[in-house]
Amino acid sequence: MIGTFQPGRHGARDYGATLELDVDVVIVGAGAGGSAAAAACTERGLRVAVIEEGSHWQPSQFRPSSIWAWRNLYQGRGTRAAHGNAVTVLPGGRGVGGSTLINSAICFRTPEPVLERWRAEGCSRFAPAWMDMCFERIWRTLGVSVNPPEVQRDNNRIFKLGADRLGLKGAWLARAAPNCVGCGSCQQGCEVGAKRSADRTFLAEAVESGGCGVFGDCRVEGVESEGGRVTALLGQMLDPAQESPTGTFRVRARHFILSGGAIGTPRFLIDNGLAGGPVGENLRIHPTTGVVGRFDHDIRPWMGVTQGYYVDRWEEGYLLQVYNAPPDQAWVQLALKPAEALQWMADLRRCGSAGVVVHDEDSTGSVGRAGIQYSLGERDRRVLLEGVRSAARVFFAAGADAVVAGAQGVGAVPANADLSRAIPDDLPAHQLGLYASHPMGTCRMGAFPATSVVDADGRVWGWDNLHVADASVFPTSLGVNPQVTVYAVGLTVGAAVADAA
Ligand SMILES: Cc1cc2nc3c(=O)[nH]c(=O)nc-3n(C[C@H](O)[C@H](O)[C@H](O)COP(=O)(O)OP(=O)(O)OC[C@H]3O[C@@H](n4cnc5c(N)ncnc54)[C@H](O)[C@@H]3O)c2cc1C
Ligand code: SF4
Repeated sequence: MIGTFQPGRHGARDYGATLELDVDVVIVGAGAGGSAAAAACTERGLRVAVIEEGSHWQPSQFRPSSIWAWRNLYQGRGTRAAHGNAVTVLPGGRGVGGSTLINSAICFRTPEPVLERWRAEGCSRFAPAWMDMCFERIWRTLGVSVNPPEVQRDNNRIFKLGADRLGLKGAWLARAAPNCVGCGSCQQGCEVGAKRSADRTFLAEAVESGGCGVFGDCRVEGVESEGGRVTALLGQMLDPAQESPTGTFRVRARHFILSGGAIGTPRFLIDNGLAGGPVGENLRIHPTTGVVGRFDHDIRPWMGVTQGYYVDRWEEGYLLQVYNAPPDQAWVQLALKPAEALQWMADLRRCGSAGVVVHDEDSTGSVGRAGIQYSLGERDRRVLLEGVRSAARVFFAAGADAVVAGAQGVGAVPANADLSRAIPDDLPAHQLGLYASHPMGTCRMGAFPATSVVDADGRVWGWDNLHVADASVFPTSLGVNPQVTVYAVGLTVGAAVADAA
């Protein structure tokens, strides 16, 4: 049993009834942001405790089953959703590794126009030379590469074929899974250990330094403070199976970094009255919907790299990315009447699938005591529908005989249909089934306390030693998959904390 700080990895079975930690830096959340911040702090000689409400996992413990993964690796046991003018499923990871345990490993550098805008809004640490250094380090640490064609398999290849026939700009996706065997189960955890998630990379570096203790199965809930400084965080150890409390902990430190993600961090700040300004507002998510195309030959979409190819429609406000939904989730994606959906399920081995990822611009969202709100804006709704038609055209160019989109009331659209009539621009948001795995922006970084929650060092306005390092600090939507940018935020805020320590 441990009762005080020890470096290494600890979980439920190691704890007694109480835990008292005293370190230089506490980090709440062991996802992309928290893990990179831990690496940045330990390499500067600081003693770090990382506190994570989910458990530690070994690849051999993962199971290729959605129900298993939702129960063990997802926030809210897989039920997290946003309320608004559309139904939006909002999955997020819970465990040492955070959302990187269940992500598809796609890696994009932060687009330069986005970084320019962020710098103009006061994010002065994101200078080009610093960001280049972060990206190089992230590429090296995550082993970012493009997987070979033999592991991409037909779900990726067929989409590339359609895009090439239409002359669309696209590419194989760079991924943090250099030894991927293409089992297609990224979002249930990588059983073969090929995916280089945060727990196996940046956090492993921090632990190997000897200065970092990772305390799994511990949820941070409260705070102690004195005169503008946080002095301790309080919380409960959890039984991982029941999520019920088994004891209490208190962790004292000189510096505190919140990395609970774009939903968890604003919730903690709001619940404890720690931040004002736009805390919890400005939620962006990259609203996404699926498109399935049916062919006359086998595709077997559940095999191959989960997400291996994309079509670049950045200028038009969206990306098309191949997406492999496992069969138990494909059923939910098929917005069809039951008899027709059953037929499509019977034909699933002949289907390919992709998603439209929208760079949300005029949608509105927030996280607060009332829950998570998100309503699709008019422009974003139109961009999403244009993306759906664009994905349909790609499937038809590759030889599909029909497509189904995540839109109620549209039905299966045959190859000879007039797409602008079949998937019309005036399709209301409430008919769209949205999925969004990129929440961001709820504790935006900026130059002024009235319009931002943290300053350029990630420090919460009004506090000397309370920082945020996760996707919540993004000042705007990103437009590309966010993990690389979150790792860069973690390295940046971690360095700022180390400078101040
Ligand atoms: C299904 C899915 C697929 C994705 N695919 C990709 C992809 O291919 N490429 C890409 O770039 N991005 C992808 N993403 C997004 C990417 O993984 C996230 O943007 C990134 O991991 C966010 O990092 P973060 O540090 O902000 O939060 P997270 O990685 O979500 O980590 C937050 C952690 O904090 C913990 N926590 C929260 N509150 C508390 C508390 N009070 N006490 C203790 N612990 C707490 C949570 O349990 C969680 O583990 C995907 C996400 C999902 C969900
Ligand atoms: S597709 Fe590759 S990275 Fe994803 S779970 Fe399978 S082996 Fe791991």
